[in-house]
Amino acid sequence: MAKLKILEFPDPRLRTKAALIDVVDDQLRIFIDDMLETMYEASGIGLAATQVDVHKRLLVTDVSSEKNEPLALINPVILEKDGVIVTGEGCLSVPGYYEEVERAENIKVRFLDREGDEVELDAQGLLAVCIQHEIDHLDGKLFVDYLSEVKRSRIRKKLEKERRQQTAVVS
Ligand code: ZN
Repeated sequence: MAKLKILEFPDPRLRTKAALIDVVDDQLRIFIDDMLETMYEASGIGLAATQVDVHKRLLVTDVSSEKNEPLALINPVILEKDGVIVTGEGCLSVPGYYEEVERAENIKVRFLDREGDEVELDAQGLLAVCIQHEIDHLDGKLFVDYLSEVKRSRIRKKLEKERRQQTAVVS
């Protein structure tokens, strides 16, 4: 397994719309395992392929406290949405920031699992929020897009400044 590099806001590659996956094969399953390893190492609860610069419709998630319920969703589509929930969301591509975002509390999502079988899943609460957040990534959308322009540009400037300082330290 290999750890993958996570793109950070405002990297323009995060705005790419991901393409449907045609074939679920061993190569894809290896990539799914790499994404899971990357997500666990970063202490995240979800990761979309877009975030590691692979523009295919795939996301992984594990919202369990024991970190032993990995889930891979290939070509996910939300079929139904219901209710409203507001949570403090973070994102591995926007490190260090947590902001309140409103989402549907319950969703029904259809996807292919890692064997290529079609699955319909009813998700609630944190899992529902996480899947909506990750599907946004596949459409080139970030949680900061739900914030005001003022807040978003403040976060962008701070992250750009931190990145310049990190570059200065290593170079
Ligand atoms: Zn994210």
